[in-house]
Amino acid sequence: MTISASSIEIYDTTLRDGSQAEDVSFSVEDKVRIAQRLDELGVHYIEGGWPGANPKDIEFFRILKSLPLKRARIVAFGSTRKAKNTAESDPTLEALLSAETEIVTIFGKSWTLHVTEALETTLEKNVELVGDSIAFLKNHGRRVFYDAEHFFDGYKTDPAYALKTLQAAVAAGAERIILCDTNGGTMPWEVQEIFPKVKACCSVPLGIHAHNDSEMGVANSLVAVRAGAIQVQGTINGIGERCGNANLCSIMANLELKMGYEALEDGRLNNLRNISHFVAEMANLTPNKRQPYVGDTAFAHKGGVHIHAVQEKSR
Ligand SMILES: [Zn+2]
Repeated sequence: MTISASSIEIYDTTLRDGSQAEDVSFSVEDKVRIAQRLDELGVHYIEGGWPGANPKDIEFFRILKSLPLKRARIVAFGSTRKAKNTAESDPTLEALLSAETEIVTIFGKSWTLHVTEALETTLEKNVELVGDSIAFLKNHGRRVFYDAEHFFDGYKTDPAYALKTLQAAVAAGAERIILCDTNGGTMPWEVQEIFPKVKACCSVPLGIHAHNDSEMGVANSLVAVRAGAIQVQGTINGIGERCGNANLCSIMANLELKMGYEALEDGRLNNLRNISHFVAEMANLTPNKRQPYVGDTAFAHKGGVHIHAVQEKSR
């Protein structure tokens, strides 16, 4: 797949991050059907699940091997190795390999607080974990994308350290570095300020993975694209844990209609409403009729001044 300068890589994580939403549960069959519809829609990457954490996801990757997709690349997701294991003896990395996908995305820590308190390891050791987990996957023939978890909080606390973790990922062979606003608390002007600084010291293309806790998921994703991101991660209808992920329906529409980028090939944007309703149905959620671009009332006019003006214009 070639991505031209004016196209943005769409990385869908409905099946992984989206399925973390507290009222959403997809069966393996649901996941396969959603993957096929996302492929028809024309997204570039589909994050299928976390084989190290969820046995259902192992089954999903197995089924997908016999049902090749036409356009999208299927991606397995997981974490860097545990501090106590070597890469070779780490069950999470082993499970990632067993998904047998061309591409894997692993996440690691760039926030000093999380390294010392959640991983209970040293800052130097964490940099090592990032580098040698990626190197291990590369040595096993995988293409690797690196999700820098809580990146913006990490950068605000200690920019030099946050960048050091990214440089370790680049040196080990990551093809994309994705800056994650994992708790959704970053404001668009902060993304605008931080993104170019990262871009200046990262030799591989960047992506954005935003959550919606401050209702800035879409805004932060679009600002990141303006600041140089070539990949946007999100979910259909913005489903995801807490307040959800960045909503890919609005992102793809805005990229194409407001910003002049190509998100989906060959005018496939026309299928947004279908995929939005399909995923809502699979998730047992009522479609939001007020959802921008895809909701039933998104383009409805109730009459009055606006409808009068439209009628006048069409005469
Ligand atoms: Zn996420």
